[in-house]
Amino acid sequence: MSAEYRQAARANSGRGSTVSIGDITVGGEQIILMVGPCAVESHSQMMAAAIAVREAGFPILRGGAYKPRTSPYAFRGLLEDGLRILDAARRETGLAIITEVMSETDVEAVAGVADILQIGARSMHVSRLLEAIADAGKPILLKRGFSATMKEWFLAAEYILKRGNDRVILCERGIRGFDGEYTRNVLDLAAVAVAKRETHLPVIVDPSHGTGRADLVLPMVRAAIAAGADGLLIEAHPDPTSAMCDGGQSLATADLPHLAREAETIARAVSRSVYPIGAKMRGAEPLPASVAFGSSGVRT
Ligand code: PEP
Ligand code: MN
Repeated sequence: MSAEYRQAARANSGRGSTVSIGDITVGGEQIILMVGPCAVESHSQMMAAAIAVREAGFPILRGGAYKPRTSPYAFRGLLEDGLRILDAARRETGLAIITEVMSETDVEAVAGVADILQIGARSMHVSRLLEAIADAGKPILLKRGFSATMKEWFLAAEYILKRGNDRVILCERGIRGFDGEYTRNVLDLAAVAVAKRETHLPVIVDPSHGTGRADLVLPMVRAAIAAGADGLLIEAHPDPTSAMCDGGQSLATADLPHLAREAETIARAVSRSVYPIGAKMRGAEPLPASVAFGSSGVRT
């Protein structure tokens, strides 16, 4: 099997590879959280989100300028204006930026502001796009397609590696199941353990798209860290009820400090820490049971 994804295969790099973005290392001892709104909506929305993300101690800001949407009538992002807002947020806060590239024609513009280029679930199979972003020479977050087998996902990563870009991070974001009543997708945490075993690439988890529900994000953050994830991609909005996209699965940015503490608690249990919160939190008191649950009050 390894022969099919010969560069991604774990056998190629026994200890596992890391992807660095400045002083942030994905795939090392520290767990990296990438947090922000689904979509860039305005300068003020993005700045409010960015400040909350930075204050909670997370190093990477997410936000889509180009949004893949099921309906062509839905909000599809601010496009180039969204990129300008992301650039401003980066300059004003010092956070690294992750944002999606949907088309070969946008690669250069997006790579001009993004520290990590995101390939969305719908684009995982578009091999020409994978090659085009590989050529941009930036770190790439490769989401698993929602109907992609694990092998197809690893082979998509292989397209990027074969092209000469070895800075690939895998992202499990949930696959289609038969029961859409309570969750949007089935978050496949076994795939995290498989990906860590089969490949040497860092693996992160998106519990926001993985569940489609804000109240399930925190339990899945805990489970993802316990399953061996190297990081998380999480949607958070200053006012989820007014979000133009995916508000129902977005945490309120006011809840981010709680998220940070919870992630750190599980990270410690698996001998890791959350970047760079671990250092600040060492010696902190354990949380009282009354606050050890999500803001929704859902008990896990
Ligand atoms: C996103 O992260 O904004 C997104 C569109 O996710 P996915 O490609 O996993 O649907
Ligand atoms: Mn979204």
